[in-house]
Amino acid sequence: MPARYGRVMLKLQGIAVSPGVTIGEALVLDSEGFRIPRRFVARSAVDSELERLARAVADTAKEIERNRDAIKLELGGQYAAIFEAHLAMLHDTRLQEELQSAVRDRNWWPEYAVSRTLRRYAKVFQNLDNHIAQRAHDIYDIEKSLLRNLLGERRETLADISQPVIVLAHNLTPSETANLDRRFVQGFATELGGPGSHTAIVAEGLEIPAVVGLGPFLADVSGGEPVILDGNQGVVILQPDEETIARYRLEAEIARSVAAQLDTLRDLPAETIDGVRIGIHGNIEFPNEAEHCIARGCDGIGLYRTEFLYLTSPREPTEEDHFAAYSEVVRAMPNLPVVIRTLDLGADKLRTETTSEERNPCLGLRSIRLSLRHIPSFRTQLRAILRVSAMGDVRVLFPLISTILELRQARMVLADVMEDLAEKRIDFNRNMKVGMMVETPAAAMMIDVFVKEVDFVSIGTNDLIQYTLAVDRGNKDVADLYNASDPSVLRLIRRSLDAAAAVGVPANLCGQMSGSVLYTQLLLGLGLRQLSVPPSSIPEVKQVCRSVSVAECRLIADRALEMDSAREVKNFLRDQLSRVLPETAV
Ligand code: PEP
Ligand code: MG
Repeated sequence: MPARYGRVMLKLQGIAVSPGVTIGEALVLDSEGFRIPRRFVARSAVDSELERLARAVADTAKEIERNRDAIKLELGGQYAAIFEAHLAMLHDTRLQEELQSAVRDRNWWPEYAVSRTLRRYAKVFQNLDNHIAQRAHDIYDIEKSLLRNLLGERRETLADISQPVIVLAHNLTPSETANLDRRFVQGFATELGGPGSHTAIVAEGLEIPAVVGLGPFLADVSGGEPVILDGNQGVVILQPDEETIARYRLEAEIARSVAAQLDTLRDLPAETIDGVRIGIHGNIEFPNEAEHCIARGCDGIGLYRTEFLYLTSPREPTEEDHFAAYSEVVRAMPNLPVVIRTLDLGADKLRTETTSEERNPCLGLRSIRLSLRHIPSFRTQLRAILRVSAMGDVRVLFPLISTILELRQARMVLADVMEDLAEKRIDFNRNMKVGMMVETPAAAMMIDVFVKEVDFVSIGTNDLIQYTLAVDRGNKDVADLYNASDPSVLRLIRRSLDAAAAVGVPANLCGQMSGSVLYTQLLLGLGLRQLSVPPSSIPEVKQVCRSVSVAECRLIADRALEMDSAREVKNFLRDQLSRVLPETAV
């Protein structure tokens, strides 16, 4: 078995989902969410900690024996061999000596000693041939039971973070991400996750640098070790050397000065060289983000994802909870439009990963379908939206509409709630504008019908890409197919914009692509005059709008639509961007 503790720098490439460069200490959460900080034992406590370690080893051995006996009874002796192998590994003299020496000689906390030593063993197995590599899983199992026995009730969770860390995890759900404590979490990186996942979107909303889809790497790192996370390039560096740290510090410094320069655009309009005014609105998940949008000079809130009210609370929000959140946003946006989207729960937006028993949650009971199945909750939310409509320019937006009947049903419920409020003499705006998201190919194909029955449309490319290309937006293994540049997506966008323009219905685009400056010229050329982007992207998108002419953007869009592959479109757009803003690397 391995014996060296030498560490070499390791550079990992994942998917960049939230910009920013950060350098800090790792907090490693494995798939069970254990948190093992790098902690040391006082010399005077070494003996008692060694005893604690010995107790955990004995308890773990008892657990394995119990499992062995139960399986033997149930299935026979041959199956019990797995547990015999676990016991042999646990009692391996060399392993035991190493664990004890880590506590006695290095003064490592037993939890840290177990995690670091067993992960190193597992890593060695993983690098061997396929058959042996399977043993790595056994070692992780032993690590988990030792940690469970060591930590017992003292098991810490993400909620206990009290110092700056970079969270490294197997996966984080959107709701776990939404609950991260921004005071301490400098950034996060996960083994799973795709470019369009809501975890990614929330990270951007919280302005926490993040990289997802790195593949297995947690065995290579222990809590407390230094990490560099580059959310611009999707890079994570473990055990960085001094030279690399210095290089990234410099990069972070440069990024701060570029951001400070962009801040000067705050009070300038997003007006193109040929005098066309573009509305730059913010996408928010949490009410306090409205302030971040104002601070960057936005023209309103183009998308308020209200489902995060559910994801950050253990119980169903009441009408007053909805009302309080919405009024905070409306108050922060005097005289500016606020588009409140009704609940878009389901698919990956659930409180925990396991609440859904649907086989195909992205195609299942999510979003407006869920609201129309739970009319009382839908009415509660609509009442709150209507009440805040008396306080400002509030508009309502229905998500994931795929048939005209859904839209009509949603409008009927809204009309009914209006009657109810009117009867009770509660103030609301009877002419509140009603819009729909265009995020299914069905909506884009039938758009000429839809636009006759709405006041505005908002194109949700995050889902539109997913459903058009049949590619899960949260799956790293198909991330290369999840591409906003795909000509099929561009054709659906153009189709939607042309149909809206034909009847004078305003259109917005609120998918993540609107926040990437790579696409700004294309989107203006396709006809968009309003973009809704994550707050952190407002200055950059505004800068591009102020550097281009709509006439040229039209030519760019026409050229892009003639191309037959996403790669060709992307390369072309890169060239076009570097022509107007050479210093903007994408
Ligand atoms: C979209 O699908 O583009 C969108 C804006 O909605 P969400 O990302 O919340 O699904
Ligand atoms: Mg969507």
